[in-house]
Amino acid sequence: MTATPATTPGFGRFFLPGPTEVLPEILAAQTRPMIGHRGKGMEQLIAQMMPGLQRIFRTTRPVYISSSSATGLMEAAVRNCGGRRVLALVNGAFSERFAKIAQANGCETTVLEVPLGEVHRPDQLRDALTKGRYDAVTVVHSETSTGALNPIRDLAQVAHEAGDVLLLVDSVTGIAGATVETDSWDLDFVLTGSQKALALPPGLALGVAHPRALARAKQQSNRGIYFDLVEFENYILKNQTPNTPALSLMYALAAQVVRIERETIEGRWRRHLAMAERTWQWAAEMRARGIEMRVLAPEGCRSPTVTCLTVPSGRTGSAINEAMKAKGFTISAGYGSLKDSTIRIGHMGDHTVAELEALLAVLAGVVTE
Ligand SMILES: *Cc1c(COP(=O)(O)O)cnc(C)c1O
Repeated sequence: MTATPATTPGFGRFFLPGPTEVLPEILAAQTRPMIGHRGKGMEQLIAQMMPGLQRIFRTTRPVYISSSSATGLMEAAVRNCGGRRVLALVNGAFSERFAKIAQANGCETTVLEVPLGEVHRPDQLRDALTKGRYDAVTVVHSETSTGALNPIRDLAQVAHEAGDVLLLVDSVTGIAGATVETDSWDLDFVLTGSQKALALPPGLALGVAHPRALARAKQQSNRGIYFDLVEFENYILKNQTPNTPALSLMYALAAQVVRIERETIEGRWRRHLAMAERTWQWAAEMRARGIEMRVLAPEGCRSPTVTCLTVPSGRTGSAINEAMKAKGFTISAGYGSLKDSTIRIGHMGDHTVAELEALLAVLAGVVTE
C-alpha cells in the first residue's frame, strides 16, 4: 500500500499564514540519522549554515537557534531585555500577545494601541517615549492577524533617540519574506519562527541580539535557564546550542538555507512582494466586478507575506474558508475579533505567483457564487 493516497493535493494548495507549506525535499532532510549534539558533526552542521542564516537576517552577529516555537523567543526577548518598564506597541493579536508576555514576566507594561489594520507611526512612538520612561519597546513587524507591516527601521531610530531604550522585534512573518536589515536598522533583538516565511516545519525559533541587548541581559537577574540569551550567545560561538536541539528540524533548516542561498534573500523578498501585489490587485479586480472585498491594511503599510481581506456583506470568513477547503485549497479565516469579517491568505514561504494565481482563481469562484 502506498502511504500517499492519489487524492493528496500537490504543492501549492496550502496557504495558511503559518504553518506554511513545506517542500518535500525539505521534509525529507529530516530523516537523516541522529548525531551527538556535543560532537564535531553538530558543530559542522551549525557552522555550515551560519553564514547563510546571517545573510537571511542581514547581520554579522551570530543567529541563535532555539528549539521552541517563536513564542519562546518572545519570552526570551522581554525576560532578558525588557528591563523594568516596557512599552508594548499593539495593533493586532500577536502584538497583544507580546504585551501579555511582558506583563506575565514581571515587566511593568504600558500598551500603546492603534486600530486593527493600522501601524505605529514613528511620531506616536516619539511622543510616548517623551511622556514616559521605558527600558524596552515591543513591536510586531508583520502583524499576521491583520496583514499590517510596521515601519521597523524608523521605530528603531526613534527608540534609540530616546536613550537606553531597546526595540524588541517579532518578525515572525517578516524574516525571509519581508525586507529586514538587522544590522543597518540597528535592531536590538529580532526573532522569527521556522513555520512561517522560512517554510519549515514548526518547532524552531531563530533570533539575533545586538551587543546592547546582551549587555542588558547580563544585568537582568531573573533570566531563567531555557531562554537565557547569554547562554545562547556563549554556545553559538562554539557552534552549539545550550540544550539538546530539535536535530531533525535543524537538518531541515540546513537544507532550506541552501535553497534560500540559491534564490538569494533579495530574490525571496521580491517574490513575496510580487505575490502580495498580485493579491492586492485581485481584490481591486473583485471590487470592479461588484464584489466588495478590501485589503484591511491601508496602502503603504501592507505585509508582503500575509494579506487580510474583508469579506462581502452576507458572507463570513469561516464560510469562505470552508468553501475553499471543499475545493482542495486551504486559506485562513480571520483571527480573533476579525474571525468572521475577514479571510487571510498566507502568500508566504516557497509559493510562487503562479500557484497563488490558481488559488485566487478558485477564490474568485467562491466569492462570486
Ligand atoms: C505565528 C506567530 C507567532 C507565534 O508563533 P509560535 O511559533 O506559534 O509561537 C508570533 N508572532 C507572529 C507575528 C506570528 O505570526
